[in-house]
Amino acid sequence: MSGSPFENELIKDILKDYRAIWAIGHAQALMGWDSETYMPREGVEERAVARAELSVLQRSLLLKPEFVGKVEKAQGLEGLNEYEAGVVRVLARTIDRLRKIPEKLLYEKVKVSQEAVHVWVEAKKSGDFERFKPYLEKIVELTRETAERLGYDEHPYDALLDMYEEGLLTRDVDSLFQGLIPGLRRILDKVLAEGYYPQTHPLEDLAYDTRAMEEVNRKVLDLLGYPWTRGRLDVSPHPFTISLGIRDVRITTRYEGRDPRKTVYAVIHEYGHALYELQQDERLLFTPIAGGVSLGVHESQSRFWENVVGRSPWFTRVLRGIMAEHLPAMAGVSEEEFYRYVNTVRPSLIRVDADEVTYNFHIYLRFVLEKQLVAGEIRVSDLPELWDNMMEELLGVRPKSPSEGVLQDIHWSHGSIGYFPTYTIGTVTAARIGEVLEAEVASLQTLIGDGRIAEIREFLREKIHRWGSTLPPKELLARSLSWSLSPEPLLAYLERKYLGKYQA
Ligand code: MG
Repeated sequence: MSGSPFENELIKDILKDYRAIWAIGHAQALMGWDSETYMPREGVEERAVARAELSVLQRSLLLKPEFVGKVEKAQGLEGLNEYEAGVVRVLARTIDRLRKIPEKLLYEKVKVSQEAVHVWVEAKKSGDFERFKPYLEKIVELTRETAERLGYDEHPYDALLDMYEEGLLTRDVDSLFQGLIPGLRRILDKVLAEGYYPQTHPLEDLAYDTRAMEEVNRKVLDLLGYPWTRGRLDVSPHPFTISLGIRDVRITTRYEGRDPRKTVYAVIHEYGHALYELQQDERLLFTPIAGGVSLGVHESQSRFWENVVGRSPWFTRVLRGIMAEHLPAMAGVSEEEFYRYVNTVRPSLIRVDADEVTYNFHIYLRFVLEKQLVAGEIRVSDLPELWDNMMEELLGVRPKSPSEGVLQDIHWSHGSIGYFPTYTIGTVTAARIGEVLEAEVASLQTLIGDGRIAEIREFLREKIHRWGSTLPPKELLARSLSWSLSPEPLLAYLERKYLGKYQA
């Protein structure tokens, strides 16, 4: 692709102004990456001040009357191409949000969540919900105010969902789960009754040498085609991907010293996020439509590689081979046994340890509680008991302490309410991507088995990645996958995989 898609003079003018805003974002991303990886511990305070000041500067550039005036004028233009319309849409959304949320509310949210994160860490350690409760009450109060200010048509939770997944409504998520939960229940019951997919596996206790695992991770990324001249693999307490642009997208993983699947699958997951950013149309460089369009679509990329590709028998076969070269203990593990090790299915209390079959129950629980909290139908003090009851109802397990229940996730302490459903959006979309890929290119068995990974990358580039944020998520899914959110692709995928047996 050559030639800029931006021809309209007003849009070109807006993009010229936007470069400084982009540059601040670039610096913020780099500082964010450094904070999580190599920054000396005592650099924390100066870094926090620098980032806060840059945020204020970026906000003032976005809200400069001259800039806002140009964007408003562009909103009235007719005949813009879809890239130009995308620029206007994304900027108008950002400006609208900044204008509706007063600086005082923003400041209060940042301040309370900075404290809340520390209190949450301590409260989780000791299992003391009462300690975290006043902070969460404040966060919920500020979140409800945010929803009121942002505005909504049907449900206050809509305003929050839209921040993470443009255009997603509470009723979309409601109807998705209505189909998903009974289907997942049926599959889970069968899987547990058959017992082919074990609940635990002895390899979870296998200790490994970190150096050896680093080699494994590098080889896996080589196999997937991660471009090392445009990325890095580093270590951080929580694996993440950060995009500094289109040509510099970095990922991290962690090494816990045992259960080798964990670090590798974190790498494959983050690779999926990174590839989305790396394979955008380069004509979008320095523009507001560079970058993945929503958290749900982003998560569909990571889950597609981690689960649909990575946990398939065709991929685990190759992965076992790579591991066996570096971890002596793996040499004696059969391909089928290795497959069962990375595909254990266990109704458990902890979301981040959940498998493909049980994962979305955890999200459903959070969605139901968040929705009711935001609507004022339940109180923060009701949460621990409601959580435990619902967990028992959904998965038949009950937390013994809030640490393994209501206190397990960091999200609420950050003030991220309305975020969790994007994980489920990502999971169902990943399954749909698999369906379309198999219909239009070739079966995953063939593509992975014959080492045709590049064709999978090309398919994703063409369907999803190249667009960046040009199209709103619902339009992107309709156009590229001929689809709108529904439970069927995920249920069909899980049934095929988990009610069948190993067949590499
Ligand atoms: Mg992710």
